[in-house]
Amino acid sequence: MIYLDHAAATPVDKRVLEKMRPYFSDDFFNPSAPYLPAKKVASDYEAAKATIAHAIGAKASDLVITAGATEANNLAFSAASKKNSVLYLGTEHDSIRVVAKEHGGTAIKVLPNGLIDLNDLRNKITDETEMISVALANNELGTVQPLADVARLIREIKLDRLKRGIKRQLLFHSDASQALNLLDINVARLGVDLLTINSAKIYGPKGVGALYVSHGAKLKPLTLGGGQENGLRSGTENVPGVIGFAKAIEIAKEHINGNRKKYANLKKVFLDELKNYELINKKHSLDNFIVVCFNGLDAERLVFLLEEKGIYVATGAACAASKGVRSHVLKAIGLTDTQIAGSLRISLGETNDESQIKKAANIINETVKAEYQRIKNSHGNQ
Ligand code: PLP
Repeated sequence: MIYLDHAAATPVDKRVLEKMRPYFSDDFFNPSAPYLPAKKVASDYEAAKATIAHAIGAKASDLVITAGATEANNLAFSAASKKNSVLYLGTEHDSIRVVAKEHGGTAIKVLPNGLIDLNDLRNKITDETEMISVALANNELGTVQPLADVARLIREIKLDRLKRGIKRQLLFHSDASQALNLLDINVARLGVDLLTINSAKIYGPKGVGALYVSHGAKLKPLTLGGGQENGLRSGTENVPGVIGFAKAIEIAKEHINGNRKKYANLKKVFLDELKNYELINKKHSLDNFIVVCFNGLDAERLVFLLEEKGIYVATGAACAASKGVRSHVLKAIGLTDTQIAGSLRISLGETNDESQIKKAANIINETVKAEYQRIKNSHGNQ
């Protein structure tokens, strides 16, 4: 098997698994219980939270641990106090788009290169706007957004509001789910008030994520009950999950530069083999993302054909693909329906090496050629 869908899921790193293991059995205690072994678990949990927070330049008390990025994104939008007060990038993951739409949110356009249209953002911000959400890296194209530019614009707007005596909050949220393996993230440097991170994409366990919340951002609880996570996400803590997330983020942070070099090289090897085809996300994308368009082919059929040969790729976000929905991301960058139908997403990761990539690219090449030939023949027979 050659797995090329790391944007959908990553296997748990063995070191992560080892760290988590004791907390399923020996150290299973509820962190809120009063006896000593439980207090030790509570302290390990807090230490793990501090490690996660530290990796993004924050404090443990700034984090709300959630059951994944979807929850963290949903929680972020609770900061909006009224309808029609949120803006979100048109290419966001559904865990943002769907909630934003519930809030009567307005989509910000992207340019054909996948980057945010800053003019469109500027035009859409009104005195009613309370929150702006722009992912750090897109989950279908890997496009890295210029968050510093967005943050600068938000600062300008805030200053202008201050001068005019308008007190309304203006929060900046970013979903960094896909970025932690390749970008050195620091909340202050990014200029965000709210940041979503996801263990499942960095070789940690699934179902664990966190929302960084800066001071002053007022959120509504995701769940009500025992008051865990500053009252914002009640429920017994997922101790093994958070211990695993902490180890995974530590490893990710340590290997950012190495990862970038490794994936840039693998990407080059891959693209040398597939140079006859159109690369959709040429610029501004994470080094481990490749989106290639086989114009005129049905990429969903390619996914099945490749699976038969042991190659696992995707047509886009795993959740959208499972519903048979056309990618809103590829549509937003202006691709035609035929181009969208022929596009494959390849996301590289820890399970790949150079020989695998060469082999995969070869097999993809052969499969694609055979498909073009099949279509040509079928047209000839008509
Ligand atoms: N945001 C982005 C950018 C993602 O890629 C994903 C997962 O695919 C999510 C949010 C949702 O994460 P989860 O399914 O872990 O809640």
